[in-house]
Amino acid sequence: MKIIRNTGLSIFLICFAVFLSLPFLGTYKLTEKTFKENFTDAQQQKILEPSLKNLFDKEYGNNISFISDYNKAFDNANKEFREKKEWDKVINDSHVLNIVKDSSGGFVKNNLALLFIICFLISSLGGLMYMVPALYLKPVAGIKNNHIYHRGITNRGIIAFLFAAFLIAFYICIYQQPAYLSNWILLVDGLSTTLTGAAASQWFLYGFLYCLVMSVMSVRMFIKYRNNNYEKLRTCSVLFFQIAFAFMIPNILTKLQLPSMDFKNIWPLDYTFFFDYHLTQLTSNGMLGYWMLGWGIFLIVVGVPVMVYFFGKRWYCSWVCGCGGLAETLGDPFRQLSDKSLKAWKFERIIVHSVLVFAVIMTAAVLYTFFTGSSSILGIDTYSIRQAYGFGIGFMFAGAIGTGFYPVMGSRVWCRFGCPLAAYLGIVQRFKSRFRITTNGGQCISCGNCSTYCEMGIDVRAYAQNGENIIRSSCVGCGVCAAVCPRGVLKLENLAEEGRFDAYVRPEEKAF
Ligand code: SF4
Ligand code: SF4
Repeated sequence: MKIIRNTGLSIFLICFAVFLSLPFLGTYKLTEKTFKENFTDAQQQKILEPSLKNLFDKEYGNNISFISDYNKAFDNANKEFREKKEWDKVINDSHVLNIVKDSSGGFVKNNLALLFIICFLISSLGGLMYMVPALYLKPVAGIKNNHIYHRGITNRGIIAFLFAAFLIAFYICIYQQPAYLSNWILLVDGLSTTLTGAAASQWFLYGFLYCLVMSVMSVRMFIKYRNNNYEKLRTCSVLFFQIAFAFMIPNILTKLQLPSMDFKNIWPLDYTFFFDYHLTQLTSNGMLGYWMLGWGIFLIVVGVPVMVYFFGKRWYCSWVCGCGGLAETLGDPFRQLSDKSLKAWKFERIIVHSVLVFAVIMTAAVLYTFFTGSSSILGIDTYSIRQAYGFGIGFMFAGAIGTGFYPVMGSRVWCRFGCPLAAYLGIVQRFKSRFRITTNGGQCISCGNCSTYCEMGIDVRAYAQNGENIIRSSCVGCGVCAAVCPRGVLKLENLAEEGRFDAYVRPEEKAF
């Protein structure tokens, strides 16, 4: 078994090293043809060509200097019009990602199929060979987290910080500088053309990697929690919603030249839902567009409160949401790192509700501009509010920090501290829901497993010791506290709303 694991780990590490090296490989040459294919407008060609023609047919050995020279030449071409404030002549979109992709050549471009197999398929196989025997072939019952505090990756060792740095760098590049990842994006061009009818963007790569990582880590979840139907079912659920709703359906809609939409993504998590370009896209697509708009509003106004009333916020956070899905699969090995302190809880309440307020203000400002045509409100430019939200919350918090900090602060940093939808769901859960975790205090041996593995930092043991129901707005109903409890103390239940704050006595206990 050890041989299989070590072989799997070696395969994974070699493939991962190949993947990491790809952005630095290849040659780049901008031709006049590529330039004209990307800038089809005659006026734009006239403005850009004097600057860019110095780069034509010049060969570069790496994309860093190529991108740097291209960006400089592009800025030079626009400089004169910017200085003169002739905004109608300024070209905003540099098409740098497509230019880099179309200009690339050499080893990567000539071996895309082989590199796709190595980087995605063989690496996944290696990962599974490493994980599966360790979790499945050991003839021990129960959920094992043995040695979790002895491994650097799961206990904030150097390797954990390196992994965090990689994730943060990945998010920075994908949001801000995707051109540097052009060779990774090229690998999924074929798949993108089949699914969407167009070459891959950075978001297609992101969606593909998201699904792949979740799929591989789901296998680990099925094995680790193999005796727990709740965990297996919700893992199937998040995987299904990610692959079908977040990846396949929006891409197929794009291919059909219909408005693309992730039907399970709800405002304010989907903060662009009420942006002018999105509303215009929906309202200009006939009945289907209006139906999509109606569906999005229905989820916010009716879907969320009704579903949370009956099932708690777990129906979304632990069964449907993509962020939650990644946290429950890739993030599962890090769940014990969540901060359980009172200070963290106070901080969490302030931050998450502030983000919700910010999201409401930003959306109100955007809608004001959409309906009135005025781009400023109380002297503040509505686009700057929108930009600040997109950068600070959409990119920094949800992306770079939310996922990048998994190995340092646990798996639900974004859901706990930043997600405005979680805040909305949490308010309903706290005040109007049938959901609670009941505790059978007499059976508790104070082992603390439940608190340790609560990814939301809830001190579950304290409730269990007092025999109190757990009614917390932050609880995502992942069920892991109940799964790891050796005494069956905890139970996730949707009972009558009345008396939810009273200690609940289970029917089987009433007999004694
Ligand atoms: S209290 Fe239990 S169900 Fe709720 S988030 Fe924590 S571990 Fe998950
Ligand atoms: S895991 Fe179970 S037995 Fe251990 S402290 Fe929590 S409720 Fe008590």
